[in-house]
Amino acid sequence: MTSSPLQTLQRVFGYDSFRGDQAAIIEHVVQGGDALVLMPTGGGKSLCYQIPALVRPGTGIIVSPLIALMQDQVDALLELGVRAAYLNSSQDWRTARQVEQAFLAGELDLLYVAPERLLTERCLDLLSDGKIALFAIDEAHCVSQWGHDFRPEYLGLSMLHERWPDVPRLALTATATAVTRREIAERLQLDDAPHYVASFDRPNIRYRIIEKNEVRRQLLDFIQTEHDGDCGIVYCLSRARVEETAQFLCDNGVPALPYHAGLNASVRSANQSRFLREEGIVMVATIAFGMGVNKPDVRFVAHIDLPKSVEGYYQETGRAGRDGLPATAWLAYGLQDVVQQRRMINESAGDDAFRRRLGAQLDAMLGLCETVSCRRQRLLNYFDQTIAPCGNCDTCLEPPQAWDGTIAAQKILSAVYRLWRERGQRFGAGHLIDILRGKLTDRIKQYEHETLTVFGIGADLSDQAWRGVLRQLLAQSYLAVDHEGYGTLALTETSRDVLKGERTLMFRREPEKKPRSSRSSAS
Ligand code: ADP
Ligand code: ZN
Repeated sequence: MTSSPLQTLQRVFGYDSFRGDQAAIIEHVVQGGDALVLMPTGGGKSLCYQIPALVRPGTGIIVSPLIALMQDQVDALLELGVRAAYLNSSQDWRTARQVEQAFLAGELDLLYVAPERLLTERCLDLLSDGKIALFAIDEAHCVSQWGHDFRPEYLGLSMLHERWPDVPRLALTATATAVTRREIAERLQLDDAPHYVASFDRPNIRYRIIEKNEVRRQLLDFIQTEHDGDCGIVYCLSRARVEETAQFLCDNGVPALPYHAGLNASVRSANQSRFLREEGIVMVATIAFGMGVNKPDVRFVAHIDLPKSVEGYYQETGRAGRDGLPATAWLAYGLQDVVQQRRMINESAGDDAFRRRLGAQLDAMLGLCETVSCRRQRLLNYFDQTIAPCGNCDTCLEPPQAWDGTIAAQKILSAVYRLWRERGQRFGAGHLIDILRGKLTDRIKQYEHETLTVFGIGADLSDQAWRGVLRQLLAQSYLAVDHEGYGTLALTETSRDVLKGERTLMFRREPEKKPRSSRSSAS
């Protein structure tokens, strides 16, 4: 006896009605159509393939890279009375054989398979001998070579279409720039499939990006004053930073656990399950953590290093507040982040096109950090979606001022120009600022930099303000990190226009913080 999608939703899953595009997507797939589904994390993608798999004859084959989560997904379905199973490398052959038999006997509604497994001859032959209701390709952005989760096995999935031209295919992802979308459609040969694009807005997440100075203190302060006892995730760029930050939080009474690919599998899985099951755990992690982790009450996601792309950042912050209750996305970023990431791009393997792409991704991320308008507008704009100012981000709540930084920029660019003649020496940002502010440090005396015409011409601004100017010049590519590998600062094509006075530069000025005794260093 087959029932309608709505009846299945109510009887099997216990929900009253479909959300958003779910009904349209399910109807389309039940009729045998292909589809590309783009919904933010928590948007309800699973039902889009689970229900058609139940309604259509045969087994729904779910391709997912997340082996670690298959067990949980299958258990949850079994509890609802759905006949689900998985095939992956974590199983012994006996169990795998039972699953194969069940599939051939038509006793499975859903079968989860890892892509590398699916693409083996053995598995393809197995599938040919049974009846398939649909293919769902989850985390479909893994097919994008430029993306942050590229999995080479995904490229092989286009063969599903050739081998089973009549079986409907759904590609699903929470990552949705126009570029990625096109790439998915192209590589998976979903040319004629309609795109169902949900709103990516997550209005309950409050976005905040602050200037970094003493980042661990700032993080601790943020957690203690706004999220004491809450569950959260802190993202760092390196394993070493994960370790030291987790330790620092623990030393200060915050129950934190580390997670990164360098920890052995048993530690990782133990930490992940504590995070999922206990209350108030803060997971300090690299981006290796989180894909597919479904914990609805994560109250904050903090980044203490600048993410490499807006796409990655949005996906990571999207793990906060999946229950719809208020949550915070907090990012601390500073001059050093820009220098470091530009340098990493310069030094990265790969051709020029690849580096340009990384550079463009970083520029978009920096644009978000330095914007003087609504953060959410900016974020959603990146996904081709338009909204009014949100009223729930830092720039909406405490609008920063924009100031004319043209003169300041000219001063700093002139100083860079003077120092450039002494290239071969490593003069970092600190030294540059000392020159501008006219500080007679040992290093300045050593190089006789007090004799430069730019010495002391910037006494009107504080160190902090100068760092802000430098950061924003780097962010907007009026300054570059020297290619020769000295890590010094260099002028760019566009610096000239600023020096000649042909360009006016507007910078962001952080709103004045209300003085607070415990918060001395936050600017
Ligand atoms: P995604 O895979 O897009 O991240 P999920 O499919 O895991 O999201 O769904 C997120 C949550 O929303 C789940 O707890 C799911 O049961 C719930 N959900 C999805 N669709 C509906 C619906 N139509 N009505 C009520 N709850 C829903
Ligand atoms: Zn806003």
